[in-house]
Amino acid sequence: MPTKDTYALACAGLKKLALNQTCRDAFNKDSLFFELFEQAAQRYIVSSDRHELNSKLKVLSVKGYRLGVEYVGEENHDPCVVQAFVDEYLASIQMFSKAGLTPQLDFDLSAVGLLVSQETAYLNATTILSAAAEHNIPVMISMEHSSAVDKILEVYAELAPAHLNIGITVQTHLHRTIDDLPRVIDYGRKIRLVKGVYNESREIALPRGSELDERYLKLLDDVLAANVPVSCATQDSNLIKRIFDQPHHLDIQELEMLHGVQPEVLRNAKDTGLACRIAVAYGNSWYLHFLHRLAESPDNILEALADLYDPSRIIFGAGY
Ligand SMILES: Cc1cc2nc3c(=O)[nH]c(=O)nc-3n(C[C@H](O)[C@H](O)[C@H](O)COP(=O)(O)OP(=O)(O)OC[C@H]3O[C@@H](n4cnc5c(N)ncnc54)[C@H](O)[C@@H]3O)c2cc1C
Repeated sequence: MPTKDTYALACAGLKKLALNQTCRDAFNKDSLFFELFEQAAQRYIVSSDRHELNSKLKVLSVKGYRLGVEYVGEENHDPCVVQAFVDEYLASIQMFSKAGLTPQLDFDLSAVGLLVSQETAYLNATTILSAAAEHNIPVMISMEHSSAVDKILEVYAELAPAHLNIGITVQTHLHRTIDDLPRVIDYGRKIRLVKGVYNESREIALPRGSELDERYLKLLDDVLAANVPVSCATQDSNLIKRIFDQPHHLDIQELEMLHGVQPEVLRNAKDTGLACRIAVAYGNSWYLHFLHRLAESPDNILEALADLYDPSRIIFGAGY
């Protein structure tokens, strides 16, 4: 049996691989790795393009879940790739609207131009937010590595006052979040609380453990006390139990988990009457998303190998 330390190091190793640019570049659609792992990635990635999305979203929606949609991709340097990413969101908004769906749209600001310039990210996010607002579709900005947080919060500060349909993700593991949160709360927009997925040093962030769980609950209290809409995005059943034990847990807007991760945990939460959202990912640039899911629970590596051997194990919607 691997020790707790081995698990933690395996998790950090997978997260390191996830951020390795050379690996990411090698993992393009025509590569052997892509072909090999595509079937296993389908546990988390619901389709390669948007055309299959509507029917799949409807399956989950009929079961009573709220939905989120992310076109996988992040850290786009090339302005043409950035534009194609924005166009994909604009096309999906039209498609959802025709189908009568209003899923929350999720994306990284680095996918819509933050690495080109803050102005590019601001303008592209504005375009998506305005198009989404016309169809009552909410937008949630993801949070990235600590080195990007200042820029993301600066762009958010420009976007938030003008867009009612915007929200932002906040990483409770970062020490700086204790100081950032009051400012984010002041905008009054929805806040999504996560622990944080990136490897960070102890000077910058708390590792997984009871101190982080306490901080998560304290920051949740702060958001609830300010009467600001909050989504708890966690896949940790122990933390979920503790959230349920909080006196004001019914004031939480929703519990949110990524598609394919412990569906039974989310279903049980939904059965108690709490609104639950499934964050669905689609597209071909799933390398980082897939590796992060394996990193979150290294047992998922075995599951992925089993899925690779027998893809019929993955039944869309099962467990929800
Ligand atoms: C909807 C959503 C949006 C997110 N957006 C962001 C973002 O914008 N920025 C960011 O940094 N992070 C984001 N994350 C990731 C988040 O920061 C955590 O890395 C992730 O949720 C794992 O932390 P945890 O609280 O779920 O559990 P952890 O503390 O990581 O794990 C505790 C236990 O929960 C269980 N568990 C957790 N994940 C899995 C899994 N994949 N498979 C099986 N068991 C699991 C395991 O039993 C594990 O031991 C998002 C997560 C969700 C659900």
